[in-house]
Parts: sequence; structure tokens; C-alpha cells
Amino acid sequence: MATRDGRKLSLGRMAGIPVHVSPTWFIVAAVITYWGEPLVTDYLPGLGNGAYVVAGAFAVLLYVSVLLHEFGHALTARAFGLPVRGITLHFLGGYTEIERESPTPGRDIVVSAAGPALSLVLGGLGLLGTQVVDDDVLRFLVWELALANLVVGVFNLLPALPLDGGHMLRATVWRLSGDENRGTVVAARAGQVLAALVLVTPFVLSGGQPTLFGMVWAGLVAALMWTGATQALAVGRMRARLPRLDTRTLARRAAPVAPDLPVSEALKQADLAGVTSLVVVDSAGRPTGLVSEAAVTAIPEQRRPWVTIAQSARSLEKGMVLALDVTGDALLRAIRETPASEYLVVDEHGRVYGVLATADVDAALAAR
Ligand SMILES: [Zn+2]
Repeated sequence: MATRDGRKLSLGRMAGIPVHVSPTWFIVAAVITYWGEPLVTDYLPGLGNGAYVVAGAFAVLLYVSVLLHEFGHALTARAFGLPVRGITLHFLGGYTEIERESPTPGRDIVVSAAGPALSLVLGGLGLLGTQVVDDDVLRFLVWELALANLVVGVFNLLPALPLDGGHMLRATVWRLSGDENRGTVVAARAGQVLAALVLVTPFVLSGGQPTLFGMVWAGLVAALMWTGATQALAVGRMRARLPRLDTRTLARRAAPVAPDLPVSEALKQADLAGVTSLVVVDSAGRPTGLVSEAAVTAIPEQRRPWVTIAQSARSLEKGMVLALDVTGDALLRAIRETPASEYLVVDEHGRVYGVLATADVDAALAAR
């Protein structure tokens, strides 16, 4: 039974992997059925309205092929011990969500190649199938599916992100140069070039007189390619900056203060200690709260002697305490899980080391 999950329909689990279909798929299935009917009638005259059924069956089976292609990626990833979050079919194909905590180029190449390899094998089997199948309608379907699988396999092998071949090119450049980011840039730029080529293809093939269908289709594929490649570039640029996220150097030094201290007095102590951040500690010296700069500056000067520092502090929640060795990607994940403007940083003995401001993390990522 299909259930709604956001804007995707769930088809349940297959081989333990959640499979979803985007509603846009139904539009494309309708378009293929409508535009495919005259083609079917050309090859199989005398089917009448049955031609719509054949074209519709082709649309469904085409996506079964795409699903098998995605299973090629998913099962290979799982064999490597990489968790697979799910497969989604959308209007122009599908994608498999794989968690790649510690990617390696070799593994990326194999996982990426598995999908197109499966498509090419299916295409080859289909071509063989046309030799054995007797029924005209069935042979037509098998022939069309074989062609579709070969096209899917070959197109996905083109060395440009976000295609499978792009992932393979990225991993190859990464392996040869030892620089993951260089691999991303090369493969993503290739994706942008391919997007432009796809856009002009209908004009070239038709000698300057493209059909509306051809232009719309090329436009959609080019837009998807361009967006995917550009996103890959942005993610790559971000990843290259992750080493800058060193908690030890980003944390501001902080002074411990008692909770009943007036704000004015606490600010004086911070000034004397030459620090900009304050941590509220209990009588045993254990940190209980963080004082945000914004909350303190929001208190009018004349009120500060009458407000205790604890009143303007945010009590420490689980997730707001970071160890010094939480850096890079792990630091970003921690911030995403418990969003806050400040985090307490403790050393290996659990003592206050300093305060990490989210604004400083953002600044480190944004700097060129
Ligand atoms: Zn693929």
C-alpha cells in the first residue's frame, strides 16, 4: 500500500531498502503513454486502443529497469557496509541515498559503476530475449526496453556529475591526485559542460528545426544536470573548508562566574580576565549555563546591577557541550543536531576550555 511521505509515495521496502516514487513520475508515465501510442501503432498496426496499453506497460517497465539500476548501486553499497537510506524514483530516473561517512575513491568507483553495469546487462539480455520471444507485442516491448536500458547505461557512464560516470571520474582524479576536492571540481565542471551540450543537441540533430518535445526534454535534462553539477561544486567547496573547523582554535576563552553574580559585576570580571564569554558554574565548579553576548547586551546599562547572570544565561542542554576533539564534519553534525548560538567546550578532563560561537563557525566556513 502506498503511503504519503512528504511529497513522495512510499512503495514499502524491497530487499530491506525503502523505495519511494515522486508524484512527478505519474506525469512522465502519462506523457510516455500518450506520445508512445503512435509509435506503437506504427510497429504494430491493428492494436487500436491496445497501443495505449502497450505504451503504458513500456512506461512502467522502463521504471522497473531504473529501479533495478538503483538496486545495483544500493546492494553494492550495502555489500561494502555502507548504510543505504533509500531509493527514490522521479521523473527523469532515480537516485539512491547512501551514507558515505568515510568515502574512499576505490569504493566510490565500484558503487557508481554497479548501476550502469546492471543496465547494460539488462539491455544485452533484452536483445537476446528478442531472439527467443515469439509474440509480436512482447517482442516489441522487450526490444524497446533493451534499447532503453542500453541508453540509460551508456548515458549514465558519461564522465560528468551528477551522472554515475561523473562520480567515477571524480573518484579517479581523487585517486590519482590524492586531492578529493580537485576530483569534485573536474567532474562538476564536466557536468556543466555536458548540460550545455544537452541543451543544444536537439538543434544540432534537427539542423536548427527542433521539435517542441525535443526542446522541453533537453531543457529538463540540462537543468537537472546543471543543478546537480553546481550543487556538487558548492558541497565540494564547503568540504574543502572543513579542516578550518578546529574547535581548539575557534573556541573563545571563557571565564567561570557564580550564578547569583549581577550582570554588571560579571561583565567587569570578564573584562579583567580579558575574555568575551562567560560560563555559569555551580558551587562545585560544574558548568550549568552559558551566557550569550546578545542576551547580556540586550539588558539596559542601568538594569545590569539588578539582574543576576543566571537570569540571562541559557541552561546547558545535552548536545551543547562539545569535546575539544569534535572538529570538521563532526562539529557541523553536532551543531545541526542541537542548534544554539553558543556551545561549551570542555577539555579531556571535562573542565571548561572555552565557548564556541556558531557565528565563528559560520565565519570560518564563509571566509575565502
Ligand atoms: Zn546510477
